[in-house]
Amino acid sequence: MAQSALVLGGGMVGVCTAWHLRERGYDVTLVERGVPGRETSYGNAGLIQREAVEPYPFPHDVLKLAQVALQRGNDVSYRLRDVLAVSPRLAQYWWNSFPSRYQISVAGYEALIRHCLIEHDRMILASGAGNLVARHGWKQIFRTVKGFDEGTAKALALTRRFGVESRILDSMELAREEPALKRTMTGAIYWESPYSVSDPGGLVGRYAASFTAGGGRILKGDARSLRTDGAGWCVDTVDGTVSGEQAVIALGPWSEVVTRMLGYRLPLFVKRGYHRHFGWKGTLNTPMIDAEAGVAMLPMALGLRVTTGAEFALRDAPLSTKQMDGSECLAREMLNLGDPVEATPWLGSRPCTVDMLPLIGQAPSHRGLWFHFGHAHQGFTLGPTTGRLCAELMNGEAPYIDPSPYRPSRFGRAAQA
Ligand SMILES: Cc1cc2nc3c(=O)[nH]c(=O)nc-3n(C[C@H](O)[C@H](O)[C@H](O)COP(=O)(O)OP(=O)(O)OC[C@H]3O[C@@H](n4cnc5c(N)ncnc54)[C@H](O)[C@@H]3O)c2cc1C
Repeated sequence: MAQSALVLGGGMVGVCTAWHLRERGYDVTLVERGVPGRETSYGNAGLIQREAVEPYPFPHDVLKLAQVALQRGNDVSYRLRDVLAVSPRLAQYWWNSFPSRYQISVAGYEALIRHCLIEHDRMILASGAGNLVARHGWKQIFRTVKGFDEGTAKALALTRRFGVESRILDSMELAREEPALKRTMTGAIYWESPYSVSDPGGLVGRYAASFTAGGGRILKGDARSLRTDGAGWCVDTVDGTVSGEQAVIALGPWSEVVTRMLGYRLPLFVKRGYHRHFGWKGTLNTPMIDAEAGVAMLPMALGLRVTTGAEFALRDAPLSTKQMDGSECLAREMLNLGDPVEATPWLGSRPCTVDMLPLIGQAPSHRGLWFHFGHAHQGFTLGPTTGRLCAELMNGEAPYIDPSPYRPSRFGRAAQA
């Protein structure tokens, strides 16, 4: 008889895990409270980021810290009360960003990122989603000479160390390649290998449809009803209680709701982000991100999606329009945006861990339970890569990537229920 599994959460990470388990012949039920791919995996920048071999560290540069503390830039913002509430976790994040520890995280991150295009390609092909994906990279644009010089030096270092390809464009070359730009920029790094997706939630939906076409089941239900059931696990859905020998928690920024319920105190936090679409009628040859200023401009099916940098706030804290307003203003300096499509910005939360690496592996205190979350800034990129890894581990196969950097037990007592 086929082995059975429950996958909790229908974002990019959960859907890809379910897909890979189904490919191994498992009887898989994916349990989602809403519709797959409508939360964080919907609202992101839609980039499959082959270049993102280094996770975002906590800044250690005094000038940058002062700029963030004084809320001078638009790339990072925070709610003081919320930052205080998660300060022990942020302190661990800061600690893990010191160069020697950070390099350990970089090694673990790069080992995943290097597979992202190949693993997405398999799923794009299987799900017939090629029309949603453009394979022409994105441009990191700069407004200051200092930023451009630092950025290009870093890009060259990434090419030397990891073989990530990029092309440096000076101000004139950028203006020629992107004639829609109104403002003169200092230059750009053109990351040519990443993909961009015109409807990120739609891509997750296609992967989910490929999963069900292959015999998988998606049911509406609440992961908070997860409990043990004889030798396995069960959860309540609108179609009744369903069970599986194994269960995977893949609830993105809501994972902690269920892990806490089970007694774990994992060092997780979120970095929130916003987007809004504009009825822009122009043409961009690739998406563009001005990371220095904190704004991304992404041609998508619903219009030009403008996204923000990171907001340090609790997941369920009220929406603040400040950072989105700042990003809109910056984008208007560069493009004729047109009117907003939505009445209010979309808000989502990147699920982060204090060492910048996702958790992928067996729950230390529960048999047959698996953790698969914490993909932070690159869960849309990494879902197929870590979905395969998680399925291989659950199935007892030799994993294609060394799983040790992501094992939940690395957090010691916090990972014990
Ligand atoms: C502004 C912004 C830009 C970003 N840009 C990029 C990018 O360009 N590239 C990239 O790779 N990443 C990007 N990210 C990060 C990326 O979006 C996330 O890492 C990724 O979407 C996380 O996927 P997930 O499946 O873990 O979580 P989610 O997509 O949030 O999925 C979790 C699912 O769990 C479900 N759920 C929650 N609670 C319950 C419950 N009780 N019962 C049942 N179901 C439940 C939710 O409904 C949801 O569908 C960005 C994020 C933001 C915010």
